[in-house]
Parts: sequence; C-alpha cells; structure tokens
Amino acid sequence: MSWFSTLEQAPPIEVFDLLKQYPNDDFPQKVNLSAGAYRTNEEKPWVLPVVRTAETALLNDEKVNKEYLPILGFEAFSKLATRILLGDDSVALAENRAFGVQCLSGTGSLRVGAEFLATKLGKTVFYYSNPTWGNHRLVFLNAGFKDAREYRYWDAENRSLDLNGLLEDLNNAPEGAVIILHACAHNPTGCDPTQDQWREVARVIKEKKLFPFFDSAYQGFATGDLDKDAWAVRFFVKEGLELLCGQSFAKNFGLYNERVGNLSIVLNNPEKIPAVKSQITLIVRGMYSNPPAHGARIVHYVLSNNELYDQWRDNIKTMSSRIKEMRQKLREELERIGAPGSWNHVTDQIGMFSYTGLNAAQSQHLVKKYHVYMLSTGRISMCGLTPSNVEYVAKCIKETLT
Ligand code: PLP
Repeated sequence: MSWFSTLEQAPPIEVFDLLKQYPNDDFPQKVNLSAGAYRTNEEKPWVLPVVRTAETALLNDEKVNKEYLPILGFEAFSKLATRILLGDDSVALAENRAFGVQCLSGTGSLRVGAEFLATKLGKTVFYYSNPTWGNHRLVFLNAGFKDAREYRYWDAENRSLDLNGLLEDLNNAPEGAVIILHACAHNPTGCDPTQDQWREVARVIKEKKLFPFFDSAYQGFATGDLDKDAWAVRFFVKEGLELLCGQSFAKNFGLYNERVGNLSIVLNNPEKIPAVKSQITLIVRGMYSNPPAHGARIVHYVLSNNELYDQWRDNIKTMSSRIKEMRQKLREELERIGAPGSWNHVTDQIGMFSYTGLNAAQSQHLVKKYHVYMLSTGRISMCGLTPSNVEYVAKCIKETLT
C-alpha cells in the first residue's frame, strides 16, 4: 500500500517541457523560440553589464551579509521599484498612498497580491484576457479565487485588439471583480491597447467598480522606454483608481533565476496602509517567510546610482532594439519568399513575443519536423531569432503553410 497510489500524473507545462527537450535535440539547425528569455545575436543568454558591475561591487562589500531580510523584503529596493512604475512625479507617491512589497519575481508578486485580495478582501471572481500568459489562471486559483473568467482580447481574424468584446465583457462583470491587465507588451499577442483604448478600459473599470490588477513583466521591453511602458498604470492612478501591480525584474534586468519582483499597491488614502502591510506580512510569513536578497540588492544598487541607472536604460534599449530588428527581418524574409498570408502583424506587435497566427497543428509541425521550438498557440519568442537562423525559420513557416 502507498499513500500515493491514487495520484494521477499532472499534465506537463508546455514551455518548460520544450525547454527540457531542446538541449537533447541534436538537429544542427534547431531553433528555440519557446523561451521568454533574451538571447544575443549569437543565441546566448545575456548577463547585463550593469548587473555584472553591481554584483562585483556587492561581492566586495564587507557590509553585505546573509542575514534574513524582513518579511516584506528589502524596503529601499521596493521603494525604488514602485517609483519606476509610478514615475517620479506620481501624486500617489507624493501623498504617501502607494508602497511596494518585495516578492518572488512577477509570479510571486501576483500570487501574494491575489492571495491578499482573495483571503483578506473576500474577492472570488477574476478575469483574464483571452488569450493570456499561461500562468494567470493557476496563480489566482491557487491563491484562493473561486471563479475564473475570461474577457475577450484578441480578434484573430483581424489580428488586432477586440476592443468592443473587451469592453462588453468588462461591462458585464460583477461589481468588485478583479481584472488582470497586462501593463505593456501583452503576452502572448504582442498587442497592447492604444492610449485612447486604455482610457475606455479605465472608464468601464471605474464605472462598474471593478478592481484592476496590473501585471508588469516587461517594463522597458515594449518600447525601450520605461516611462512609456508604464503609461497605462500611471493613467489609472491619475484617474484615482486603487490598484495592485505585480512587477517582474526577470526580463528588463535579465535576472530570471534571481526571482526579483515587487508588488506595488496604490490606495486612495494612506490610512489603511499599516493594515494592508500587516495582513500581507501574515500571507508572506505563512508562505515563504521572507524573500531572497541577492537579486533585490542588484536592482537596488543600479536604481540608486544615476550613472548605472542610465547604463541600465541603454542595456534595455540594446535588448528591445535587437528584438525590433528581428521582427523586421522575419517579416521581410517571409514576404520575400512569398509565405502565404500577410505578415505586417509581426512588426506591428511589440514586446518579446509574436503571435504568428499559426494554429496548434502547424506549430507542432514546426517543432516536430523542423525543430523550431514554439508554443502550440502559435506564439514565438522574438529573442530566439538571430541573423543566422531567421531565414531558416521563415522557410520552415512557409513550407508548413503551403
Ligand atoms: N507575467 C507575464 C505576462 C509573463 O510573461 C511572465 C513571465 O514570462 C510573468 C508574469 C512572470 O515572470 P517571472 O515570475 O519570471 O518574473
């Protein structure tokens, strides 16, 4: 007899499954377009130069030790993280009604925020975009939400935002429902609302008394500019909305495995901040007790030094520009060889991903026959494309479609 005998095998997580298969594939022209992680033109992971500088300084600083951080993390880091999200001129910061909690990267920030909303504010219903990042549903359900619902987002036929569908679904949402919004560089579609469209979304959220929970995993990656990529969050704050925002420093600092994140919380007055902090303290204490320090120290080191901060912004530009170049190259190549269909969406979309429009069978065919690793939703990571593999990828896409 075993206590585990009735346990069923859970399905694999597609993206991690592909990442595991990839190194064991000895096909010489294999291409990895599945991972949401930056690669150089040489297909190598990139440790940002500012990260190296910060790490070297921290390593040689005898004051840096391995003591526990407080339960809510490294406060000086969180302050700066919330500041880059809300902006130096933020009214909410000036009025002391916004603060941050260091969490375990973007996922951990969403999880802590969701558990707070479910267990302390009694929220049960949440909405996520259709489609969305493959983890939103699981994170919110595991955090205690009961009712997962979708709002329309992607108009597959026109390869653009389904604004009317989105607004209609939000209009029909019950009062108090939590709405997950991608702050920028929507994953997987690479399609963000325009500023006018965001204004409409904010209006409905306000009118219908919904609760916005932003997911900011790509600040800087969409346009190459930290302020532009935070526009939507800042607009909601200006509109007087209370909100939560999970921030990840995995992508914009290349700190994927350091799990550096921040949950920013904006209230409409500072009165309840001590109560919110005390309740989140209980959540974190019961979940992982306190966060790791190394990655947060790196980010803090860079954000608190003007020269390094400027260098970091240059590093972000390097990454976002390479991605833009790859979009251009892929589109040009698909058009040059006459791959069926139109390909303007490849350059219209922004951020790390392109939603190619390929269906599940076509995507799987690319993986199996051509060793081009991508998700079955047709999502490719632009970071995996390089000047040396883009022609091969375009050719494989064309052959798959003809
Ligand atoms: N949210 C979105 C939309 C993402 O794409 C990701 C990562 O791929 C995350 C959150 C969380 O990432 P992490 O937990 O690695 O910071």
